[in-house]
Formats: sequence, C-alpha cells, structure tokens
Amino acid sequence: MNCEGTFFAKNASMLQTKRDNHNDQMILIGAHFSIAGGLHKALFTAHGYGCTSLQIFTKNANTWNERTLTDQDIELFNAAREQTDIRSICSHTAYLINLASPEPHKYEQSIKALEQELLRSSRLTIPYVIMHPGAHMGMGEDNGLRRIAEGINRVFDRVPGATSRLLLETTAGQGSNLGYTFEQLAAISDMVKAKEKIGFCFDTCHVFAAGYDLRTTTDYQKTMKAVDRAFGLERLCVIHLNDAKKELGSRVDRHEHIGEGAIGIDAFRFIMNDPYFKAVPKILETPKAKGAVDYNHINLERLRALVID
Ligand SMILES: [Zn+2]
Repeated sequence: MNCEGTFFAKNASMLQTKRDNHNDQMILIGAHFSIAGGLHKALFTAHGYGCTSLQIFTKNANTWNERTLTDQDIELFNAAREQTDIRSICSHTAYLINLASPEPHKYEQSIKALEQELLRSSRLTIPYVIMHPGAHMGMGEDNGLRRIAEGINRVFDRVPGATSRLLLETTAGQGSNLGYTFEQLAAISDMVKAKEKIGFCFDTCHVFAAGYDLRTTTDYQKTMKAVDRAFGLERLCVIHLNDAKKELGSRVDRHEHIGEGAIGIDAFRFIMNDPYFKAVPKILETPKAKGAVDYNHINLERLRALVID
C-alpha cells in the first residue's frame, strides 16, 4: 500500500546527509498554482519556476459549483505535462467539503463534491487528491471520524473506476477540525473498506500547530516515528512545506514563508535531505507574495539551497 514511487528504504537513517548521486532537478518540489485561464496553465507556471511537481484545484475551491472537463481541457493538460518537466501532480479538494458535517444536506453535498473531484482528477491522470478530513461541528470526535469514513466508503462505492488516491491531510486542529493527530487519520483509514485507495499528506505547519515538534533532529525523528507507528511512513504520499505563523501547539492554521516562522529553517533541511522522502512530492502552500516581491521564487530557492549533495 506504499505510495507510487515512494523511496522505500525504511532502514535508511532519516537524517542521512550523504545522498545518492542526484541533483536537485530530481527532487520532486513544487507549489500550489492557480488554474486561472485553464488547468494546463498551472503546469506552465510551475515549469517557469523550475518545479518538478505541483498542486492545483481542479475547480473553484470556494464554491459548490462543479467544473465539467471538456476533451480539450484534458488534451491541453496532457500536452502541457509532456512539454514540461512536471513529474508529479496533486489536486486539493474544495474548502467547502466537510465529510464530518452533522447537517444532512451539507454531508450529501460533500459526498457529491468529493465524488466529482475524484472523477475529474482521475480523468486528468492526477494520482493524488488531498482532502482535509472534516470538522465535527460539536458532534464529537469519534462520531466525526466515523462519519468521515462512512462518507469515503460511500464515495468509493459510487465511483469504483476512479484511479486517483485520496490523501487525508494532517490538520492544525483549529475549531472542531479532525485529523490533528496521526492516530485520528489512521482511525479513519481503518474504517475505510478500500484502504489501498487511502494515503496521507503531511503538512509541516499543521502538524506543528497541532503540537508535533520538528525543530531539532531529535524532535523531527520523534515526529516521523509517530507517523510510522500510526499509519506507516510508506503511506505518506505528499508533503506540504509551510512554515507556521504561530507557536508549537497553537492549533492555528496560518502559513508563513519558509524559515520566517515559528518552525524555522532546520525542519525543512531535515525533510529536504531525508532519503526516505526523496521521491515524495514536496509542495509549498506559502503566501505568493510579500508586497511586490514574488515569494514563490524565494521560498523555492530557500528549499533548494538546503539540499546537501
Ligand atoms: Zn496543506
């Protein structure tokens, strides 16, 4: 059940600094890019920044309106993939989806929206769809986790042909959001029938806000061991690289530029040089600009500079 392309070397030291002969071109690094003007545009934007990976929304993330893909959308997308060096693409579900919602109408809408997302992403041959598990809205954590798993089971039953894998993202635990412990994510997966269709996305800002430290080698290894115990590092398919605006355990989901937040640069050095994550896409979700300065470029350069050859 390991992720496609995951560098499978559990015995390799996580902090090994001597790396195999490779250059940073081979690192799967990217950012979230806009699909304004067409889905394929995001690939060219990513390519312009020298990215080998990227994340997109396959529709407007702030509405329930669906997007129907045309044959031309798919052709342009596939052509862009061939013309660029983009090797790994993931999509992120819309923000309105809440599979833990106690409101029947919202729950049904969420199921339909996730179903459409999996179908759209599958048609675009996107291997991973990333989703925040959901917020229980006062219903209680255990009920919320069960409701999410039931929703996922229903979606998988309804779209058996979807090929994209659903990745549950770690959350900061803001409000009643679930998924702020690795065990909660594992609990959802355990209740899903088609476990092979589930993977996980590790967001540095979210786990730090949830109380998992990453700032020293000891903390980093402790946190990664906790991931491994809960659901297995081999099922961690994507990493979101974001520094955090607030302190450890704040439960506040606010992303900061790399090295400028409460996490600090070292944690990103550990991840960028961890041989275990060599083939795992690493995606920035940091603010795009600071005043007139393009921070995509700056954050990407900061990450590339951390790689020890
Ligand atoms: Zn994220």
